[in-house]
Amino acid sequence: MSVPAVFDYHAVNSVDEAIALLQQYGDEAKILSGGHSLIPAMKLRLSQPGHLIDISKLNELSYIRKQKNGIAIGAATTYSALERSELLQQLFPIIPEGTSVIGDQQVRNRGTIGGSIVHNDPAADMPGIVLALKAEIIVQGPKGKRTIAADDFFVDTFTTALTPDELVVEILLPQPSAHTGSAYEKIANKASHYAVAGCAAVISVKNDTCTAASIVITGASVRTTRATTVEQALIGKHIDEQTLADAASHASNGLEMISDIHGSDEYRRQICAVIARRTISKALKRV
Ligand SMILES: Cc1cc2nc3c(=O)[nH]c(=O)nc-3n(C[C@H](O)[C@H](O)[C@H](O)COP(=O)(O)OP(=O)(O)OC[C@H]3O[C@@H](n4cnc5c(N)ncnc54)[C@H](O)[C@@H]3O)c2cc1C
Repeated sequence: MSVPAVFDYHAVNSVDEAIALLQQYGDEAKILSGGHSLIPAMKLRLSQPGHLIDISKLNELSYIRKQKNGIAIGAATTYSALERSELLQQLFPIIPEGTSVIGDQQVRNRGTIGGSIVHNDPAADMPGIVLALKAEIIVQGPKGKRTIAADDFFVDTFTTALTPDELVVEILLPQPSAHTGSAYEKIANKASHYAVAGCAAVISVKNDTCTAASIVITGASVRTTRATTVEQALIGKHIDEQTLADAASHASNGLEMISDIHGSDEYRRQICAVIARRTISKALKRV
């Protein structure tokens, strides 16, 4: 069995302590949250941090709160907590729906929303969901807090706008406008449950006309990206079966597709269209 390289472990008692350690150790340090991406990478020696800063026990980073401007989620909140939240069930059903299909129960008990979006694996579910919801990512570093729009946070494959001395502290989901529905669906790899292709859809409709659409394809593309052609094919259109079929047919337009043992480029393009149509229809039923 593979074992990680030697490292020092720091269990911190506050966000400020975590930031001080990030400053002290620079590139040598890594934040440890649920550990379900970082530890496997360390065991394979793809990542060899000299210092692990464990934030998983920080109560100040584990919460789901209703605020005036939406719902705030602490970065170290686990998928299980998100799945069980009645508040999210009511306002953002896409979140419990998305977290309920991540890995298995052990992964969901440990994995966190902050860890998933910072890792920014294109096969993961949360980055696409957070992007579709147009969330704001609150990060904190030595100079204090700053807010990054999800559209700017996900920079490229496994890369975000976070700097090495910052950590994500909160994900803010803006209050959805009236007549908005959201849904998440994926076709999963049978072993890992990672998406071979998935879709996060947030759609607003008034008088049978689509007024806003935010659609993200997960799993099939090399990076977390908005499916802008699908969005354009929906916004301003009368919503009927033909509009849906036309919009979903563009699901893989402009995306750089993954082609691997789990599915070829061509296969993924086909299932993207199917999954996009299915997810948008489900979101529409929730408007
Ligand atoms: C068997 C298995 C199946 C899985 N299946 C799925 C699946 O179906 N869908 C899916 O989406 N994922 C899946 N995952 C991945 C899982 O969701 C991970 O938990 C997630 O990707 C990372 O979250 P974490 O809290 O475990 O982060 P960690 O592994 O602790 O950290 C991941 C990265 O983020 C950094 N980090 C963590 N938190 C912060 C923070 N607050 N601020 C700054 N940096 C931070 C760490 O330094 C590290 O670089 C699976 C994992 C396993 C082991």
